[in-house]
Amino acid sequence: MKGKVAVVGAGPAGAFVAGALAERGFAVHLFDRREKPWEERGEGRTVALSLSPRGLTALESIGLRPAISERSIELLGRAFHAPEGDVRLLAAPPGAVRNRAISRSVLTRTLCDWALGQPEVTARFGTACLEVLRSQRAIALKNRSGAVSAEPFDFVLGADGSASEVRAAIVRAPTVDFGKRSSPWGYLELTVEPGASAFAYEPHAIHIWPRGSFFMVGFPAFDGSYKCTLVMRHDAHEELHATGMLGDLLASTLEDAWPRARDREAVLRARLAPIPIVRVGDWHDGDFMAILGDAAHATPPFMGQGVNIALEDAQALVRAFDEHDLAVRPAFRAFAAERVPNGLACCDLSERAAQLLLRMPPKRPAPSPLAALNQEGMSYEAVARQFIPGWQPRVYAEATPVSEEFAEVVPQELLEPFEAEAGELLVREGETAQDLLYLLAGTVRIFSATLGEVRLRAPVILGEVGWFGGASRTASAVAETSCRGGRLSYARLDAFCAAEPSRAIGLVKHLASLSVERLKDHFHPRASYVVIAAYADLHDALEGWMLSCREHLAALPIACTAEVGEILLRVANIQPARVIPPVARGGYAHLRALKTPAQALCWFRVEALPPELRQVADARKTPVLRDLEGARAYFSDLHRADGEAGEA
Ligand SMILES: Cc1cc2nc3c(=O)[nH]c(=O)nc-3n(C[C@H](O)[C@H](O)[C@H](O)COP(=O)(O)OP(=O)(O)OC[C@H]3O[C@@H](n4cnc5c(N)ncnc54)[C@H](O)[C@@H]3O)c2cc1C
Repeated sequence: MKGKVAVVGAGPAGAFVAGALAERGFAVHLFDRREKPWEERGEGRTVALSLSPRGLTALESIGLRPAISERSIELLGRAFHAPEGDVRLLAAPPGAVRNRAISRSVLTRTLCDWALGQPEVTARFGTACLEVLRSQRAIALKNRSGAVSAEPFDFVLGADGSASEVRAAIVRAPTVDFGKRSSPWGYLELTVEPGASAFAYEPHAIHIWPRGSFFMVGFPAFDGSYKCTLVMRHDAHEELHATGMLGDLLASTLEDAWPRARDREAVLRARLAPIPIVRVGDWHDGDFMAILGDAAHATPPFMGQGVNIALEDAQALVRAFDEHDLAVRPAFRAFAAERVPNGLACCDLSERAAQLLLRMPPKRPAPSPLAALNQEGMSYEAVARQFIPGWQPRVYAEATPVSEEFAEVVPQELLEPFEAEAGELLVREGETAQDLLYLLAGTVRIFSATLGEVRLRAPVILGEVGWFGGASRTASAVAETSCRGGRLSYARLDAFCAAEPSRAIGLVKHLASLSVERLKDHFHPRASYVVIAAYADLHDALEGWMLSCREHLAALPIACTAEVGEILLRVANIQPARVIPPVARGGYAHLRALKTPAQALCWFRVEALPPELRQVADARKTPVLRDLEGARAYFSDLHRADGEAGEA
């Protein structure tokens, strides 16, 4: 026997690697916290997925392609439903391998049955991994009766989805870049009944309803129904929900689908499910843990890549073992070197794809990232380099990315080149705004009294708010590294708009949508802060605490003093979302003035909570956490609940 392996998570990625490593002689224990990992949460729920040629090729490598073909529906292409009722079918080119629609449950069941058919696989379902105990080369487990134990393994693979516990252990090392956040988009699921004839729409297509501010995607199922996902911004949905207007909107904009939606009342009552986005700079710790699938790169589902890249990861990990005589350390290293840039690229490409699903596609289709991925089989990394100007595989992308549209719409001849050394002030808050900055290389730090402090990396645009608002600069920008780019004066921009309105419109639209995007990011209702305050004598203990819950903290917007922020950045490499003055200098009055509700107050050893803050916390039912251990437990529960919501 080659070694005892724990695979945490029996979703598509976990079941695949478990079976394939067992075939190679490893004794594999396949854990899942659910009794039946293939069963969807929620009665009658069936999430449909599109398997692309990438996922199908991975399945072929373990001999499952025929079984999957029998259980899935071939898709000719994508059918776009215009608001006026026309349907435009974009078919895959002749001869191309076609995508297939499959229920997530059927896919996972097929993979689990195959994996459990290997004599070397032991199913440990109903058992959750609580934590990886790296120093003991063991994992802490909780079984179905609640008993907790620690069990040693030779190595551990984390395929435990977007709230991965294995990843939490890997990113405890502050050298591993890590970012997790919730997309401003969320989704609802609904089933559209077949209608009078068996199939109301083209049965061999993914159906898309682009509606400007939201979209719906539907997959055909064998019973003739369509499993649909409605994607909307959280803030828009909350408003529609609160005003009771969601039903009217859906009835008037989805005329060919909404009347046949099952349980419409339940759909209208439901909350949008969150879409977590996870980016990790390294996927292993040397020779004990590695992660793959959603655990390594949870992406929004806007390009239908999640399960395909997860299966491809699994295939790549197995290939790395084969190429290195089943030796763990070189296999992990080769696997991560190949897949990390692809995971980051998949996140970046998928996030941008939401914009493409809001509008009807152009009549003459242009080269697209989706075709390059699905039909040409290019790697995610190569596609990102081709379609996103200046793309680099990096975890931190705090700024709303500049889309390729800006490079296309900005008249290069109007840009005045500039260069700046690290430390140089590029923009001063309060000054009269005179120009836009198009940063092509380098990193800048933005400081603002109201928005806190953020780091932006090129390519990025600064100064668009000044042009629209005619106001003074809302923030200062300091070059953190040497920087290079172009300045576009507002005077030139105005002249360009007057002289060539038809060319300028693209640029103006782009700047407008960028401003909206940024304002929404800042004032997103879910962006409530976790406030951390601690007396200086606790700062040493804070370091250990920050490391132990780094994964959980990194997923949350944190507001803290500069001192605590410095520790957070140094120890855990987490950027606070907002820096506030110390309590003694009115820090919390400052927070209150922002009117942003706190998600939790970590009030470590700071004496009494000021009465006015206590009143606000009580009124908003904000948890006040007074000790480090209690806070760690609170964040860990939050993290688990988040994971369950992601799967639900
Ligand atoms: C609405 C929606 C639509 C989508 N559409 C598509 C699509 O069209 N095409 C596509 O390719 N992808 C799509 N996806 C994404 C796809 O579902 C995921 O990317 C894919 O399931 C990831 O597989 P995985 O094996 O990495 O993780 P998961 O499928 O998330 O499996 C993780 C498993 O780990 C288990 N687990 C978690 N924590 C623990 C723990 N601590 N201990 C033990 N077990 C644990 C869970 O119970 C689960 O079974 C969609 C996702 C959503 C939400």
